[in-house]
Amino acid sequence: MDFGHGGKDAGYSNSTVKEKEINFAVGMQLASLLKEKGHEVCLIRDKDEYIALDQRSQRALACGPADALISLHANSAGSEKVHGIETFCHRAHLFESHLNHGSFHTMSASEKHNEILYQKSNVLAKSVHEKVLTFARVQKKDLVDRKIQHKVSQVLLGADMPSILIELGFLTNNKEGQMLKSSSYQKTLANGIVNGLDDYFKLM
Ligand SMILES: [Zn+2]
Repeated sequence: MDFGHGGKDAGYSNSTVKEKEINFAVGMQLASLLKEKGHEVCLIRDKDEYIALDQRSQRALACGPADALISLHANSAGSEKVHGIETFCHRAHLFESHLNHGSFHTMSASEKHNEILYQKSNVLAKSVHEKVLTFARVQKKDLVDRKIQHKVSQVLLGADMPSILIELGFLTNNKEGQMLKSSSYQKTLANGIVNGLDDYFKLM
């Protein structure tokens, strides 16, 4: 599990909040919920520590073969009006209607390996994204679904396992920012992720 930012890298910050602290708080709640359910959890950072992006991937790989990598972030925007939750993962080429990238049969072994990984990441993203929205909407009725985006950070690029990055909400939006600071909403988000992971493991 990857809690975005840390140490000298606060992520988004203003006078009342630092993104690294929100990511960490939700992540620690998520880790304890997963452990309660008997899952093994490996943390890329377990304190307020700066870790360069390429080192995050290495730490993820050092965890050994894992079922999934979840990277947690909180968002920011230039406008206060923007809010909502979005989830990032690789694009699985064969999911696209136009098969410009060739069929599975003509792919090299490493391309096939990645394609399977990316398809699993898509299933993981869908399962987790849906459940996070469902859970969060119990507390925040006007929650915006910013959908699954196919854009990946360096952490996801370097991880050789199904991996997603969740932007849990906008710290620059007054209401969402306030909620992200509350431990009850943090727990709700963590619960949503756990339930989404359960769905994913059932499908795999
Ligand atoms: Zn971030």
